Amino acid sequence: MSRDANTEARHRLVGLLQEQGITNQRVLNAFWQVPRHQFIEPALQFRAYEDVTLPIGFQQTLSRPSVVAFQLQRALSRVPKPRFILEIGSGSGYQTALLTHLCLRVYSVERIAGLHQCVDQRLRGLGQRNFRLRHGDGFDGWAQHGPFEVIIAAACAPQVPEAWLEQLAPGGVMLMPIEQSTGQAMLEVHKTDDGEVHQMIVNEASFVPCLPGKVG
Ligand code: SAH
Repeated sequence: MSRDANTEARHRLVGLLQEQGITNQRVLNAFWQVPRHQFIEPALQFRAYEDVTLPIGFQQTLSRPSVVAFQLQRALSRVPKPRFILEIGSGSGYQTALLTHLCLRVYSVERIAGLHQCVDQRLRGLGQRNFRLRHGDGFDGWAQHGPFEVIIAAACAPQVPEAWLEQLAPGGVMLMPIEQSTGQAMLEVHKTDDGEVHQMIVNEASFVPCLPGKVG
């Protein structure tokens, strides 16, 4: 796809997200800013702006744009301008790139070395600097840089990890896919200013599993 064709396709993607109920201008702008085709292998780039899941190697996938947009919109409706965001599962770095447009600094953890290693260069290539990456087990969060106003998980956990709850700032929000007896669901966890925790299911979900330990 040529540069112009990609720009046009990105424009169509933003339109599609709007049709699906994404109204938050900052979220729409982030999707407009980030060239999704640069996060996938050349052979699949012609599908980059469709609302589909795409493989990124190591048996992992890039989530559907509409699913990511929904997560981000929910997060920003609680915390319109977060300072620090923790992302679990950098993967290709696409969502990390979206997040750099939405906060002061993104902290992103990835367990697979082969994926983690590509992200820094990709994001720097796009001119982004407000991110920190770690190769490690995201179940531990990243205590050193917390608390975070927003925590976003891109992989499905069996339950809410204690470390994420601890590292969520008062007033903060976490969006994470969770495994239930009926299948996966998107869970929103909100911590009040007083530290009370409220949880609710906000959507269905279909994510790769969040696995313990790091690889490579
Ligand atoms: N947001 C990513 C999607 C990645 S898929 C993107 O835009 O490309 C989910 C990612 O979570 C995978 O890369 C997987 O390796 C990672 N993951 C799974 N369990 C993890 C854990 N415990 N800690 C950190 N990353 C994890």
